[in-house]
Amino acid sequence: MNSILSDRILNMEESATLAMAKKARELKSQGIDIIGLSLGEPDFKTPKHIQEAAKAAIDEEKYFSYPPVAGYQDLREAIAKKLREENNISEAKAENIVVSTGAKHSIANTFMCLINEGDEVVIFSPYWVSYAEIIKLAGGVPVLIEGTLENNFKATASQLEAALTDKTKAIIYSSPCNPTGSVFSQAELEAIAEVVKKRENLVVIADEIYELINYTGKNFSIASLPGMFERTITVNGFSKGYAMTGWRVGYICAPLAIAKAVEKIQGQFTSGGTGIAQRAALAGIAGDQQSSKDMADAYFKRRGIVLELLQDIPGIKTHIPEGAFYFFPDVTAFFGKSAQGHTVKDADDLCLYLLDIANVSLVTGAAFGAPNCVRLSYAASEEELVEALKRIKKALGELA
Ligand code: PMP
Ligand code: GLU
Repeated sequence: MNSILSDRILNMEESATLAMAKKARELKSQGIDIIGLSLGEPDFKTPKHIQEAAKAAIDEEKYFSYPPVAGYQDLREAIAKKLREENNISEAKAENIVVSTGAKHSIANTFMCLINEGDEVVIFSPYWVSYAEIIKLAGGVPVLIEGTLENNFKATASQLEAALTDKTKAIIYSSPCNPTGSVFSQAELEAIAEVVKKRENLVVIADEIYELINYTGKNFSIASLPGMFERTITVNGFSKGYAMTGWRVGYICAPLAIAKAVEKIQGQFTSGGTGIAQRAALAGIAGDQQSSKDMADAYFKRRGIVLELLQDIPGIKTHIPEGAFYFFPDVTAFFGKSAQGHTVKDADDLCLYLLDIANVSLVTGAAFGAPNCVRLSYAASEEELVEALKRIKKALGELA
């Protein structure tokens, strides 16, 4: 019998980040002392004033009904104001904002609204796991341009230019980047914008979800460049900067026609984001930003700790990430080596070896388009990070 499931879902890969996190959770529940560095999830609690706003919203008994599909007006206005004032996106207005159930949902909505069968989307690689699968689900064809370790994994404007064809509809990158932590500079984004502006009907999806975890200073938004507002969908959300992964609130800022299309698809799929979570998000974006800054400071300190420990492991090659909370070291030095019943052919095997022998979970770089690397999330306590790196060093040292 043919499968009852659609080709659409049969052709889709499972999210490698979530799959590895699930595996680590299962081993932990069996009593194994796993240190999970696979999931890109803040280990901090959602700041208290945001929690309080959600409680107050429940007590007010005003937010139990279907919310407006594109999000509460005051939240959309607060987001637009933040984009104008913090990101210099001067054209941003509430009507350009659509609030969704997490940035992942914002990205899915956007691709569903942009892509026709066979349209190409250029992805700056290494890239976040879900981009390619969502593009394929929408009928699109992912086209990867590869950043090299020497250039901090950042693909360039000239690589972009060479990858464009008559079928290219959109490009997508994240900055700060998941999985590499690299940050595009203003000059790099200006060069990318010049390439994009030469084409009609080509848009940029700028995923800025890690903007508040940027060690180079303020994040630069490509939508703030002349002529780019009409060609950019800026994606952002509350999961990372406000430690709100479980609340599921993300948003886009897009030219009106695209924002309207996203609102339309959302009206058919979810009827909009959860009301109480939106009230919490409003307190996050409009309130005191100190807790986000404190979290970013803590990540910066951890980056230093992990960097020193990684540099002390023979065979590991790493760049210095400038944002987000990931390291993305090259681990090819270990390919072809064996220990304790494991043979490490590739990064997938190395992750399984480290899970089994060091009890530390990482994610294979293959899931992010870079099969020579592994991703380590340092959104974990300093004690866990030090212990994890000690175990990783020991286990890698045994490979021969
Ligand atoms: N973009 C990137 C680059 C991410 O790492 C994530 C992580 N979850 C998302 C989007 C989606 O975030 P969320 O759906 O939690 O808002
Ligand atoms: N974005 C995070 C990560 O890359 C969370 C998991 C996910 O949504 O894929 O690990």
